[in-house]
Amino acid sequence: MTQIIDSIKEDLPKDAKISDISYEGSEIILYTKNKEFFKDSMDLIKRIVNKIKKRIEVRADPSIVADQEKTKDLIRQVVPQDAGIKDIYFEPEFAKVVIHAEKPGLVIGKAGETLMTIKEKTFWTPSIQRAPVIDSDVIRSIRKMLHKEAGYRKKFLNTLGEKIYAPGKDVEWIRITALGAFREVGRSCILLQTPQSKVLLDCGMSIAATASKPFPYLDVPEFQLDKLDAIVLSHAHTDHSGLVPYLYEYGYKGPLYCTRPTRDISAMLQLDYIQICQRENKKPFYSSKGIEEAVKHCIPLDYDEVSDITPDMRLTLANAGHILGSSVVHIHIGDGLYNVLYTGDIKFERTKMFERASTDFTRAETVIIESTYGGNDDVLPPRKDAEKSLIEHVKVAIDRGGKVLIPCFAVGRGQDILAILADSNIDVPIFMDGMIWDATAIHTAYPEFLSQNMQKQILHKSNNPFIDPRLKGIGSQKEREMTFNHVGPCVILSTSGMLIGGPAIEHLKKICTDPKNMLLFVGYQGEGTPGRRIQKGWKQIQLDSGDMLDLKLEIQTVKGLGGHSDQPQLLNYLRHLNNRPRKIIIDHGESTKCVEFAKTIHREFRIETIAPKNLETIRLR
Ligand SMILES: [Zn+2]
Ligand SMILES: [Zn+2]
Repeated sequence: MTQIIDSIKEDLPKDAKISDISYEGSEIILYTKNKEFFKDSMDLIKRIVNKIKKRIEVRADPSIVADQEKTKDLIRQVVPQDAGIKDIYFEPEFAKVVIHAEKPGLVIGKAGETLMTIKEKTFWTPSIQRAPVIDSDVIRSIRKMLHKEAGYRKKFLNTLGEKIYAPGKDVEWIRITALGAFREVGRSCILLQTPQSKVLLDCGMSIAATASKPFPYLDVPEFQLDKLDAIVLSHAHTDHSGLVPYLYEYGYKGPLYCTRPTRDISAMLQLDYIQICQRENKKPFYSSKGIEEAVKHCIPLDYDEVSDITPDMRLTLANAGHILGSSVVHIHIGDGLYNVLYTGDIKFERTKMFERASTDFTRAETVIIESTYGGNDDVLPPRKDAEKSLIEHVKVAIDRGGKVLIPCFAVGRGQDILAILADSNIDVPIFMDGMIWDATAIHTAYPEFLSQNMQKQILHKSNNPFIDPRLKGIGSQKEREMTFNHVGPCVILSTSGMLIGGPAIEHLKKICTDPKNMLLFVGYQGEGTPGRRIQKGWKQIQLDSGDMLDLKLEIQTVKGLGGHSDQPQLLNYLRHLNNRPRKIIIDHGESTKCVEFAKTIHREFRIETIAPKNLETIRLR
């Protein structure tokens, strides 16, 4: 065991009866056989935490915990009925009792009172998980799997902790290598290295139909899968997370850090990707085994929770305002030596769903920032106008008896559009196809990641946009056909967002020849995608199947609803950072936008700004 453990031991009383000290990643867990110590050690542990600046938790040794059935009875006694307990189960490996409830706040009680009672009377450590208001298969199977793998996870987390607390070396240099999404959008991937650590920031897959190279440059000599210490995911979109299971399938066994929603939504999108491949007779890059391994090795972090991930790197994820669970990634390197901020995809404006991206970091010497809308012409209309315009367009089509197809990403725009429509007086069915419904269910499990306003709305069931009676989730081909046969006006939200396959194409086929109908774009359409071509005015589109579609329906685009910042917002983000960065690196934008944005930043801030190409390595220090 390491120095840190010796230092903890020094401060423990003789009769603490510690039976085991183990790591759970960067957390240190003390298991005790002394009931009094278990109950009364809080102040002592606080003092030790202050001294060593690491997280420590005391749990009971399995020999002193109460009988499981009796514990369940007690929990049902002390937790009010309104809490809506759905399930209670035990993880003896961690001396934890997991309680699934619709209202976690009621299980916790005022100032944690109820939790305390459970703990003191049963010696189990309660862990509360929110049961989503809309049932979600993905969440259910992920939680079940993690439960089944508790034994494996205990060992994995302990071995990981030993690595994290290995003695640190001198951080002589820090560098990043651009492995994907530099001067392009798609396949986001960055390798961050010090002499001691190798960490991958995102590992995405290009989604544009024409992407000849869907993979990041994982075959470069400096990237060795067996030497990788950690993967950090900014968010769940395929262009950031799509190839993570591939890494696990090819032998990576290390940790994956992200928020819980990112973990769940990634798994959902990756499963969907495999299913789409199967439907289209293509061979997916990985199987569901890879997805399972990724979930099994995931260490979920809350926003603003600080976690050591290697001996010389400390990670914090903070709100990015882009989609549920999306994070800006802050990595502190060495002891006060250097800080890297990777924005992932950011929205620096309040939206219906999210607060604007966080800029609250003490320091960030290097900022790697996206530039999807970083070009000089990229000035989006104000959000309010965009929302108004969306409703106006939809009304125009509906009033003439038409159907409106809105292609959108399953996650992010889908829910935003949904919330805007639910807030309006548009009184037609709103169908949601292709994972949008599943993604919406995941939103109801993690309201703490939504904006303050949306949290309030969701917690009051009557005002929850996600369970609005106008919404109809499409979960099967049969239900899809019911939508095809629906007579009269309606709105259809469907994936894929850029009309690269997905059920949106099937819906488009059905409605494209009637000029009453409308195809309404609300998000970014990548270069080379059918969506971009239609926006450019193409009236005929060839499908993968070879069929031609004649587009006679009205085509409209509403700008300003996307989850990305426009150039003024991106610049504002940089202005709001607490400290002036020394170096700004541009990624995640079409080549011309990256270069334009770099020039604009340099002009305004007089900071070294670069727009590297893929495969370039930049020494930060
Ligand atoms: Zn994204
Ligand atoms: Zn992206």
